[in-house]
Amino acid sequence: MAKRKSQPPAPPPSAEFFHKLASAVPGILFAYSLSADGKSHAFPYVSNHTQHLFGIDPEALKESADPLFAIIHPEDAEGMEESIRESARTLEPWQYRGRLHLLDNGYQWFEALSRPTREPDGSTVWYGQFHNIQHYKVLEQELRASESEYSFQAGFQRLVARLSTEFINLGFGTIDECIDELLKSVGEFFSMDRSYLYAFSEDYTKITKTHQWCREGVPSLVDEDQTVSIDAYQCWRKQLLEMVQSNQVAHVEDVSDTPPDVAVIQAQSESTSSDAASVFCVPVRAKGDVVGFLGLDSLTPRKWRRDLHDLLVIVSSLLSGALERNLLEEQLLNQSIRDPMTGLHNRRYLMPRLSELVERAERYDENFTIAMLDIDHFKQINDSVGHLGGDFVLRRFADILEDLIRATDVVARFGGEEFMVVFPGTEQSAVKQMIGRILAAVRHGGFVFEGRAIPVTVSAGVASVRERDDRMMSVDAVIGRADHRLYLAKQSGRDCAFDVSGPLGL
Ligand code: GH3
Ligand code: MG
Ligand code: MG
Repeated sequence: MAKRKSQPPAPPPSAEFFHKLASAVPGILFAYSLSADGKSHAFPYVSNHTQHLFGIDPEALKESADPLFAIIHPEDAEGMEESIRESARTLEPWQYRGRLHLLDNGYQWFEALSRPTREPDGSTVWYGQFHNIQHYKVLEQELRASESEYSFQAGFQRLVARLSTEFINLGFGTIDECIDELLKSVGEFFSMDRSYLYAFSEDYTKITKTHQWCREGVPSLVDEDQTVSIDAYQCWRKQLLEMVQSNQVAHVEDVSDTPPDVAVIQAQSESTSSDAASVFCVPVRAKGDVVGFLGLDSLTPRKWRRDLHDLLVIVSSLLSGALERNLLEEQLLNQSIRDPMTGLHNRRYLMPRLSELVERAERYDENFTIAMLDIDHFKQINDSVGHLGGDFVLRRFADILEDLIRATDVVARFGGEEFMVVFPGTEQSAVKQMIGRILAAVRHGGFVFEGRAIPVTVSAGVASVRERDDRMMSVDAVIGRADHRLYLAKQSGRDCAFDVSGPLGL
C-alpha cells in the first residue's frame, strides 16, 4: 500500500477569504453575539451585503447590533428579540421571519437561520445567515387571497342556487316572503347594513319601498310601503332616471349627501343627518322594463368589489324572473275572476265572497245587503243597435255602477245583462238611496252608440241576509229573494226596485 505523502498544514483562512466566500452566498452570513446579561450585542462578523441592502456599514455592527435592529418592522421587533432570548436560554437553533427596511425598497420579508453556542464568558454567539423571502411571502399572500376569493365565489354560487330554487318553487302569494329572504341573504352575504327593493310608479315619478331588510340595530329610514316622489332624491334623481333609461347601475362608494334613503329622509325632516356612507343600486326589470331597483347600504364607507355590479345583476335577474312570474300569475288569476268585457268581477269571484260574508254576519251578528240589477228589454236593445251596441251598453252600465258604489262595496257581472252589488255590513234601509241613484244614472245615462241614442233603464231586487224575522239566510236563499223582487220590479213596469217592504219609493 502506497504511503500517503504528508501535506503541509493549510494556513488559517484570512478575513479576506471569508469575505470572498460570503460575497458569493445569496444570504447574509453573520456571527451575532449577545452578552450574558443581555445588555449588549454586536455582529463580530456580517457580510458586506448589509451595506448595499440596508445602508449599514458592517464595521459599525461590530461595535453594536443596534443599527440593524433599528430597521426591523415595529410589528416584528418584539417577537424577534423574544425568539433570540429563547434560543440563548435553550441553545436551540434560532429561526425567525420578519421584515427589514431596505435602503430603497421599503420593508421586505427575511428569514434568519442560525445556531447558538455558549462562550466561556457566558455570552451567546449565533452563527448563521438571513436571506430575502419576499417573493415567497407574496406568493403565499396571493395564494391566501385566491383561496378566500374562491370561497367567496363558491359561497355566492351557493347563495344564487338556493335563492333560485326558492323562486322556482315559489307558490302563489309567497313572493313577498321570498323577496324578504333574498334581501336578507344578499345583505348578509355582502356584509351590508340594509338591503331594499323599491318599485317605480308606471310614469317613473314616484318610488315605493316594497321590501326591506336591516341588520340588527340598524334603523330603517323609510318605512315599507312608503311612497315618495322621485324628486325627493335630488342628485340621485338623474342617476335613477339613467338607470331606468339605459338599465344602468347606480352606485356611490362614499357619500354622505344623497343616497336614496337618506335623501328621502332629508326631504322630510331637515334635522335628520345621513347615516348611509355607501350605496349600491341595481335596476330590477320585468318584461324588459325597469320596474324598480335593488339597493344595498353600508353605514361605513366601503370599497366595493370591482365585480359587485355583475354579482348584483345576477341577483336582480332572480328578482326579475320572480316578479315576471308573479305578474303572469296575477293576470291569470284576474282573468279567472274577472269578466273580460266589463272588467268587473265575475260570479266565480262573487260566490265565495258571499259565503264569507254570510259566515262573518253570523259570527259578528252583522247584516249585509245585495242588489240584483237587470237591464230592461235588453233583447230589444240588441235587436235595435246590434250585438256590439249591446256590449257597449253593458260596459257603460258597468262603469256607472263602479263610479257610484263605495270602495267597500263589491260589484260583479252575475251573468248576461244581470249584475249584482253587494253592500257589506249594510242594512236594506241604508241602500235605498244608492239604488235610486243607480237607476237614475242609467235612465239619464246618455247611452250613445255610433251616433244613436239608446234609452236604457234597469230594474232591481234588493235583499239582506237578515230581514224582518232576523233569521240568517243561506247565500242561495238571499239571492233567491233578490231575484224574486227583481221579478216583481219587472212585473210592475220595470225601471224600479223592490225590497222586503215592496216597491222602493224612489
Ligand atoms: P227583461 O226586461 O225582462 O230583462 O228583458 P230582457 O230582454 O232584458 O231579458 P232576456 O233575459 O229575455 O234577454 C237577455 C238578453 O241579453 C238575451 C241575450 O242575448 C242578451 N245577452 C246576454 N249576454 C250578452 C252579451 O254579453 N252581449 C250582448 N250584446 N247581449 C247579451
Ligand atoms: Mg233584462
Ligand atoms: Mg236577464
